[in-house]
Amino acid sequence: MVSGKTMGYTGIEYAERSFNTIIGCRHNCPWDCWARDVATTRHASKYGEDFGDIQFFPDRLEQPMHTKKPQRVLVNFMGDMWGDWVFTDWIAKTLNACEKAPWHHYIFLTKNPKRYADLMREAPFGFEIVRTNARPWLGTSVESVEKIGRLDDLINATNNAHVLRWVSLEPLLGNPIDRSLESKLFHMDWIVIGALTGKQPKQPEKEWVEWLVQLCKDYNIPYFLKDNLKFEALGIEKVQQYPNGFKKIVE
Ligand code: SF4
Repeated sequence: MVSGKTMGYTGIEYAERSFNTIIGCRHNCPWDCWARDVATTRHASKYGEDFGDIQFFPDRLEQPMHTKKPQRVLVNFMGDMWGDWVFTDWIAKTLNACEKAPWHHYIFLTKNPKRYADLMREAPFGFEIVRTNARPWLGTSVESVEKIGRLDDLINATNNAHVLRWVSLEPLLGNPIDRSLESKLFHMDWIVIGALTGKQPKQPEKEWVEWLVQLCKDYNIPYFLKDNLKFEALGIEKVQQYPNGFKKIVE
């Protein structure tokens, strides 16, 4: 998370680097948002105190080019770059920067996966990233069954596209045991499961995690249990898999 020549490192354990060109978010999630906390406190001198004030940093667009070793890169996890409030031009410039360094694996995450559909359109923006070897990882967050519509939007937006489709069940706040959810998760290439952290942390129920793990095993979907799960207390084995064929590339 530096302004300058190189991408910053990330503490999120499934990636190595972060590429932050667009900071801020207007989803106003009611739980402790790590990005909002960091941006508006530790980095307030740089980003200000209003996380809803969306900012673009074009001076960072060259950063991926300057890291030659292939890395898993989190793109704009300090907000939601696919929010309806983000200028398409900012998204296009960010994607173009990724296209120029296709040796990395770019990981995207949104609560507004409908907007990925823009990525699939040829004109007027021509987001070539879906046609490069980079094969972007396009994900959405689902914290409870009520948000299942995001999976429909993700699936519809990425149908037949050369992308890796994934879901972040973090924080897992509600019971996921649901046949309808199962039928959507079946379409994922990778599933991440995590707990609520922050000032009022909350672990998911053991049977919720067990059900998801069994589903991943049944459908042969790689899954990643985040370090914020209390494995011993839950009595669950820590398993951190990557999408098929993607671990080796960066090691
Ligand atoms: S969508 Fe993400 S960045 Fe935005 S408020 Fe919610 S947790 Fe924070």
